[in-house]
Amino acid sequence: MAIKTRRFYSARKSCSCSMPGVWRAVAYMDGAVVVFHSPRACAHVARTMDINSQYRTLSENEREQWGSVPLLSSQLQEKDAIFGGVARLEKCLRFAIETYKPKCLMIANSCVAGVIGDDVESVAREVEEEYNVPILTVECCGFLGAEYYDGYFEITQKLLER
Ligand code: SF4
Repeated sequence: MAIKTRRFYSARKSCSCSMPGVWRAVAYMDGAVVVFHSPRACAHVARTMDINSQYRTLSENEREQWGSVPLLSSQLQEKDAIFGGVARLEKCLRFAIETYKPKCLMIANSCVAGVIGDDVESVAREVEEEYNVPILTVECCGFLGAEYYDGYFEITQKLLER
């Protein structure tokens, strides 16, 4: 099989996950829903960051920020690493739209999805056309060639372009 993507690592780049960056950029955006195309456990990173942020806010005697937007995971499993995870993502997007009636959906990709090579763009386009709800995604996948701020800035830029 031909190699389509080569990823390079730099010692100077921080080693963090781009998915919480996507989450934090839109976590308080009215009408948004975020989907992590990832195993369920990856969502704990965003949750832990949010809890830490709440404690930091409290320790500085500032007002707590509740009411973040829904965060879902496509719940990739071991067999999806072999057969692909797009069916799970599609199911998750449909569930998100039918349940939360969002104005906009954001997909953050995990390193697992990146390794599998799921065509997330195509799934997003297909579901967007069917439901007429904007669905944005990012090219970065977890920590593969990217870090927290890559996710943060890429989704922000894509929102501005839309
Ligand atoms: S680095 Fe990869 S495995 Fe870890 S939380 Fe991010 S996407 Fe999940």
